[in-house]
Amino acid sequence: MKTPVPDYLDEVLDSLRADTGGANADYIPELAEADPERFGMALTTTLGRTYAAGDADTEFSIQSISKPFAYAAAVIDRGLDRVLDAVGVEPSGEAFNELSLEGGTHRPMNPMINAGAITTHALLVGPDAGQDDRVDRAVAFFSRLAGRDLQIDERVCASELASAHRNLAIAHMLRTYGILDRDVPSVVEGYTRQCSILVSVRDLSVMAATLATGGIQPVTGERVMAPDIAQHVMAVMAAAGMYDAAGDWLTRVGIPAKSGVAGGIVGVLPDLVGIGTFSPRLDSHGNSRRGRLVFERLSRDMGMHLFSSA
Ligand code: GLN
Repeated sequence: MKTPVPDYLDEVLDSLRADTGGANADYIPELAEADPERFGMALTTTLGRTYAAGDADTEFSIQSISKPFAYAAAVIDRGLDRVLDAVGVEPSGEAFNELSLEGGTHRPMNPMINAGAITTHALLVGPDAGQDDRVDRAVAFFSRLAGRDLQIDERVCASELASAHRNLAIAHMLRTYGILDRDVPSVVEGYTRQCSILVSVRDLSVMAATLATGGIQPVTGERVMAPDIAQHVMAVMAAAGMYDAAGDWLTRVGIPAKSGVAGGIVGVLPDLVGIGTFSPRLDSHGNSRRGRLVFERLSRDMGMHLFSSA
């Protein structure tokens, strides 16, 4: 007899629970305080059925996992050509917070690293939008993707803003080259608020499943984005979602994914499933260590590698 899915997911978590490698992010003090033992995962199919295990309803800040979804919103709001004028789609092979721009165009290399994500956040809504408009847009859009009203964790946000020197430096660099044309502190604050939206792995799996369907939220049935935008976002995740570990991830795991420094990872298999994992300890690339191991198991056991011919 086949193992039922929930039992299989419990078994995957149990088999990896003893792994205590890596460490919580410490450059955001609130994240350093998070319980490192938390461990959860959820899968949502394109038919809207969710399977969850472990700490499936624990909330944590979305952090960089906000980037692909904010990117989708920016493409909806401004059109792909306008967004591509400002942000490229090339893997950078660099850390998420690198101060780097593409030679010649001075665009950030892609929307998954902070330089690209700060630029993407600034594009939300329209040229005259203020900080509140952009943040409200992100919260409302993510809530439609998750199918429930999401909130901002003000403590995490304040904790990050108190020492956001690096992101401010990145934004000032973007302003110098005219990639950003608005008030730097307000853009960084808005981006940081976007990163502080609280989600669970259950939410992440539903948000990812909405990409997997080509833009229809599988539980509410609402069309949230056009299929070509979902396709574009998944492709950018595959190319650059795991920063300087993107090639290793794509070959070993083969599931387009995006990680966040609070310990979440979201993954998506087109036409099949959205996946969310949470475990706060990070590896040297800033990706959740146990989350990565879960994805490796799923890829192997369930033939989930995009290029699997099995
Ligand atoms: N808010 C974080 C930052 O900008 C997000 C980084 C991440 O999750 N990798 O540094």
